[in-house]
Amino acid sequence: MRLLGAAIVLSMLLAVPVAAQRAPELSIEREGGEVSTVALAMERGFAAVPLGLLSDLGWTVAEDGDELSVSIPNDFRIELQIGSPFFRWDGIALQLVDTPYREGGTVFVPLQLVADFLPRRLPDLYEFDGGRSLLRAGNPVPGAPQAQAEPDEPDLTRPSTYEGVRVVIIDPGHGGADPGALGVGGVREKDVALRIALELAEVLRRESDLEVHLTRDGDTFVDLWDRGEIATNLKGDRYGIFVSIHGNSFPDQRGTRGFETYFLSEARTEHERRVSAIENAPLRMGNQQIDPERDPDLSFILRELQNLDHQHWSALLAEMAQDELEEVHPGPNRGVKQGVLAVLTNALMPSVLVEVGYLSNAEESRLMGAESFQSQAAQALGRSIMRFFERYPPGSGSGQ
Ligand SMILES: [Zn+2]
Repeated sequence: MRLLGAAIVLSMLLAVPVAAQRAPELSIEREGGEVSTVALAMERGFAAVPLGLLSDLGWTVAEDGDELSVSIPNDFRIELQIGSPFFRWDGIALQLVDTPYREGGTVFVPLQLVADFLPRRLPDLYEFDGGRSLLRAGNPVPGAPQAQAEPDEPDLTRPSTYEGVRVVIIDPGHGGADPGALGVGGVREKDVALRIALELAEVLRRESDLEVHLTRDGDTFVDLWDRGEIATNLKGDRYGIFVSIHGNSFPDQRGTRGFETYFLSEARTEHERRVSAIENAPLRMGNQQIDPERDPDLSFILRELQNLDHQHWSALLAEMAQDELEEVHPGPNRGVKQGVLAVLTNALMPSVLVEVGYLSNAEESRLMGAESFQSQAAQALGRSIMRFFERYPPGSGSGQ
């Protein structure tokens, strides 16, 4: 980590990648085969569509100040609010990753609403083909209740009966030309992360049903954007998790200490935004320069949507990592946090980023540089992963 100017931090918050071949768009195929396209709005750093699209799809759309309502007459209604990620689906409170907003007199809603929520909740009416960015849309019939799918929240409590191989990809943060945060007494984040990662790999390799990989096993630079993709390729169509190991830093508040674990979701607090921005910073070091003015690659947006499927599991893994670290760390336990972390975006599996302590705190920096702590932290993370696999994949693991 390093200190960054506000402008750089802002651009990092957008966490958007790389060159686009063309402006991303969503295709819509109506009943009868007619296909139209709508350009995705990207000015807020996430993909959004005009609210009017829903009206084209046969919904009744109403705006009352910041209150938006999208309904099928005599059936049910979706209530959204400008600036809020929360919305009501037929009275049930749900959360979007991003928020509806108004730009130039037009209201935009996150793509997630039409590409994720509609197909999931109204599967008879909508189908989303991520590979082709195609939404197939039927015609809602007023007064004829649509078959609503049960929300497919995973059951996080049932023991897994899966007996196949599980894949663990361990990602030691930073490396090579990117030292990460610099601590008191010359302790470097990249070294702490690597030592914990190497020992964690050793711990997990003792388990016969685990296949363990590292994104780096030496002091080398791996592009932030490649790490999740490497993990996704290594995992293939098997079950696996991605664990990125880091150390935190807050030079303006040297008293801050403790450990926290992130999963990929909207950052809710200033603290989460700050940490996400700093961890996204090495993106600027690789070949892939981030330019928020350019249209991001559509595949990125779709990956972001796909990763929502793993959000509940990622949160559970984060919770278990915090539980186990608490056993070996003087604390405080700063809890499970969420943020838009580039390194996690491409890892299409339950994935977390662990900040094992604050290198900007003198005492904690010494702790993190000590071999005994590095070893204990590795053992603790190993235990949390084994505990996680008692529940994941759900059931017998069929049907991923
Ligand atoms: Zn880091």
